[in-house]
Amino acid sequence: MPHAIGNIPKRDSYRTVVVGAGPAGVLAALRAASAGPVLLVDASPLPRHKSCGGMIHALSERVLARHGLRIGPAIREPERVRFRFLDWDAGVTKPCSLAFHNVDRDEFDLLLLDALPTSVEVVAPCPAVTVQQDDEGCTVLLEADGRRAEVRCALVIGADGARSAVREAIAGRTKPYVTLQDTVELRGPLEPFFDCIYSSRIGAGHAYSYLVPKDGHALVGSVFYPGTRRPREQHESVLAELRARMRALGESVAREASAAAFVRGPQDVLAGAGRVLLAGEAGGFLSPTSGEGISYALRTGEAAGLAATRDPDEALDAYRRDLRPLVRQIRFKLAVLPAMESATGRALARALPAPVVSAVTRYL
Ligand SMILES: Cc1cc2nc3c(=O)[nH]c(=O)nc-3n(C[C@H](O)[C@H](O)[C@H](O)COP(=O)(O)OP(=O)(O)OC[C@H]3O[C@@H](n4cnc5c(N)ncnc54)[C@H](O)[C@@H]3O)c2cc1C
Repeated sequence: MPHAIGNIPKRDSYRTVVVGAGPAGVLAALRAASAGPVLLVDASPLPRHKSCGGMIHALSERVLARHGLRIGPAIREPERVRFRFLDWDAGVTKPCSLAFHNVDRDEFDLLLLDALPTSVEVVAPCPAVTVQQDDEGCTVLLEADGRRAEVRCALVIGADGARSAVREAIAGRTKPYVTLQDTVELRGPLEPFFDCIYSSRIGAGHAYSYLVPKDGHALVGSVFYPGTRRPREQHESVLAELRARMRALGESVAREASAAAFVRGPQDVLAGAGRVLLAGEAGGFLSPTSGEGISYALRTGEAAGLAATRDPDEALDAYRRDLRPLVRQIRFKLAVLPAMESATGRALARALPAPVVSAVTRYL
């Protein structure tokens, strides 16, 4: 049964307020619910639409299985796709063994939302404007039904993504990657690969592009560093080159812009401050090398929700302890990122045999 969604909070105080109803926020709310009243707010109307390739890593499925959740209803054709590295500069194509389930992201998010217990109060559209902390707890300033409203709570979990207002309140603003993603008509079949494309010819600021077939269409996305000029023109040139290389690609039927956390150093990864915990992209939890973020959002959301069941003054320390292995993984990826982006790293990826590239890709 779909979860009931209100337009203003029913109470003026909760034990936990979770900001953002993406995978991090939903898992956090689900876990925190056992300790007392939880309010989950989202700035968008729910169910929401998130621009995404919909590649689901096995780690995500493992977290969901712990909560009795299966992604089956969200899976689309081709069901499984393998990662393939394409370097247009050198004309190299390296298929890898790393494989993902291929989902409709809207269906996937809805499946998560519907897993919430009815005890979690969900209010949307209801952006959190800011968060303040004092000796007794937190105040969250919300915009509910066109009016400002304040709610009190013992703990806040900021799971509001790459442009997090909660993170801004405790640590200042961050600049995200800018993304563009087209839904493209298909005139014929595409191979079942998640293509990751690197090319220095696209333009300054272009990080990479991707292509994945989904349900009779293809998604073509491009990721740009913060401050990139004319990303749309650059994305068009990726599409033009792809159409020239793959005859099956037709016209674009939709385009959407979005953002992804720009995680370049240990300082970009932040578990929180005081009684505010950050989960998912709000805390910089995603793979800095591959951009895979769903498994990080689910794992950190789950851990934040668990920490929220403890004494609020001890929650942040418990959360940090729980996240140590995941933070170590992110730091490892951050250490290899400059080499990956360098000319030497790219030359190495070209020169190494496909099985070696395939093995390395599993850790990225
Ligand atoms: C184009 C693109 C393609 C991607 N492809 C993949 C992929 O194939 N596989 C993968 O694993 N990852 C992918 N990612 C990354 C993945 O989508 C994210 O890492 C993941 O969704 C992060 O989850 P989250 O819960 O932290 O944040 P989000 O999913 O971003 O959710 C944050 C929520 O917070 C809400 N919000 C924002 N501000 C406020 C506010 N002030 N108040 C209240 N609510 C607010 C938003 O409306 C949103 O619903 C992609 C990202 C992009 C942009």
